[in-house]
Amino acid sequence: MSCPRILIITSCTGKKHHNPTNQLTIEDFKDTQRLRERTESLSEFSCPSGQMYTGLQHLRLMEGVDILRSHFGKEAVDVKIISAGYGLIPEDKAIVPYSVTFNSMKNDEVYSWGDYLRIHEDFQQEIVGYDLIFVLLGDKYLRTLKLPVKTHSHQTFIFFASNKSINYIDSGNAKLLTLTLSNKSASRFSCALVGLKGHLLKLIATEASRVPHLLESIYNNPETLEELLNKQPNPLELPLGISFSTESKLHLQNKSHRKSKYTEEELCSILKLPVAVNQHLKMQYFIPEWDDKVDAGYDFLQDKFSPNRKACKDDIYAHEEKIYEKPNYDGILVSKIVVDKRKSKRNDIEAAGGIQKYLKFSGEIMGDCGAFGYIKQPEPPYNTIEILDYYQRLGFHYGVSIDHLIVGPFAQPGIREERYDLTLRNAEEFISKHQKFGYTFTPIGVAQGWSPETYAEAVKKLVEMEYDYIAIGGVARTPTIEILEILKEVYQHLTPKTRLHLFGVGRIDALPYFRHLGVTSFDSASPLRKAWFDAVENYHTLSGKAYAAVRIPFVDKQSQRIKHLLSSGYERETLKQLEQEALKAIREYDKGNISLDESLKKLLAYDELLELPRDGIVNPTAKARRLRQHTQLYRELLEVKPWQECECKICQNPDCRVETIIFRGNDRNRRRGFHNTYVFYKRFQEFLNAENCNIDSTKEST
Ligand SMILES: [Zn+2]
Repeated sequence: MSCPRILIITSCTGKKHHNPTNQLTIEDFKDTQRLRERTESLSEFSCPSGQMYTGLQHLRLMEGVDILRSHFGKEAVDVKIISAGYGLIPEDKAIVPYSVTFNSMKNDEVYSWGDYLRIHEDFQQEIVGYDLIFVLLGDKYLRTLKLPVKTHSHQTFIFFASNKSINYIDSGNAKLLTLTLSNKSASRFSCALVGLKGHLLKLIATEASRVPHLLESIYNNPETLEELLNKQPNPLELPLGISFSTESKLHLQNKSHRKSKYTEEELCSILKLPVAVNQHLKMQYFIPEWDDKVDAGYDFLQDKFSPNRKACKDDIYAHEEKIYEKPNYDGILVSKIVVDKRKSKRNDIEAAGGIQKYLKFSGEIMGDCGAFGYIKQPEPPYNTIEILDYYQRLGFHYGVSIDHLIVGPFAQPGIREERYDLTLRNAEEFISKHQKFGYTFTPIGVAQGWSPETYAEAVKKLVEMEYDYIAIGGVARTPTIEILEILKEVYQHLTPKTRLHLFGVGRIDALPYFRHLGVTSFDSASPLRKAWFDAVENYHTLSGKAYAAVRIPFVDKQSQRIKHLLSSGYERETLKQLEQEALKAIREYDKGNISLDESLKKLLAYDELLELPRDGIVNPTAKARRLRQHTQLYRELLEVKPWQECECKICQNPDCRVETIIFRGNDRNRRRGFHNTYVFYKRFQEFLNAENCNIDSTKEST
């Protein structure tokens, strides 16, 4: 490696280049139309974000960046800024002055506003392809990242953070060095604490421009940086930082998601709490229904559907016999909002004789309204009697009361209380009418909230209303650690017969803790949907390790990438030849007819053309980054051949086993999702079995 590709993540500062009195406020950022108008009125103050901020940290940092660029070239380093108004933005994005900062927000506001700006997701996406990533964030800005994100063992992260922030730092699989900074360190470097992070970055840049291969050594061995700073004339106070080796991180990662915040000791302390009183109830996994179907007779070699196939009538679900003999879930969750999406669907369900027959599923089916679908409306678009009738008429086993989500911008004081009360009022009406009119499905009451205490209060009330099945909503994107905090409060109100469901949370590593705190069911589509939504980890395995499927898109299906290639002069025939050669390469490699290198070469010949154009142009650096990243990912996949190890019926089927490892169209991608669901369910079953063994052995020993 000549010079590692560097990314610097920093934050917006209150001090700005322009300070008009009518700067944008948080309300402006909540409304696209209003934002457009207000931005226009401030257009004379518009400038790139890299020049907008004039706080000390930012100025010193940009001086450091200039030094690096003049030495290693402009491409060597990119800067991304977390703006409390705009989210994660590149330094060249034109912005107008605004007056919003995470520093003045309460913690729950920091998380909800950070979620609304999609900072976690954008950060995840932006770090791909960089080798050395410096993160210069204060406590509140750091929290918005909601670490960990997916990282690679070939990446190195350097965090500059205060002592109280270190609990939010987690670099996943990547190497990590955390430099903890205090007032003392600031005085040693004779600069103000506010500017210290930028000052240190500039210092590193200056050293890197003097000492050959310094960045490379920091990348390979981040502790080098610690030594370097200690050698400075005014060294930092000891102990300077905390460094974790990749190995110990991996060890921790296997046990639970967010080790960085909960220490192992704290996690153990959860298991030392008295076990939930409902522990004897079995635990179940539900999968949300979203028309996830495939053509059972798809011809992969010719890429043709079954003759005369009609998708809505002939395509089948993963639990139908031609795919898997046994379903890989205990139940299915059907949201009304999904049913209502297609006009004829409700009629089809009624015509089939109910939801169970429509889904051809013999297990239990839970119905809810699908609160995400109406999150922006002031009130849910349904009334209780209508929903009770709907559950009964379609034959659901469980029906969920009508709730309203308290997340993102809807968790602001004022709105949250309204939604909280509305959800509880609906639950009360739901169960009283359920009893009065003699409905036969099991009612489920939903608890929404914005803190452990508010959730606990809601659960307490639902128990008093005589619900035996309660669901916690609004936590699908909440960090595990915060869910545990909620459960610790909630579980004290459970009775031995209360079942407890977590909506949208399928986290295998956290199951022991969820279980201990009384969770008896959960739903998640994440293993399924990661098959096509996760760019890197989309083929899962029982060990927990995930691989990247090889991308061989259809030339004839005119995606944005293919259109771009055709318009920039590539012949359709040339592309088709590359496409077919790539398909042949992976199939022949699977059969053992060609070598890994030969196969990889053919796969990359097509793949490297596929960088997504932005505004009609492919960035050559991004293209090179893609090639480098995919070479590594595909090589790993080909070396291990995980699809040959899997015992699921899809991977065992000689007609489609290697096809699921190809990222190409619904019939391959969704089957890969089915396989991921199989893996997830198998791991879930292993957890339950291990738990039973533990219970048995405790019984024996007493
Ligand atoms: Zn499989």
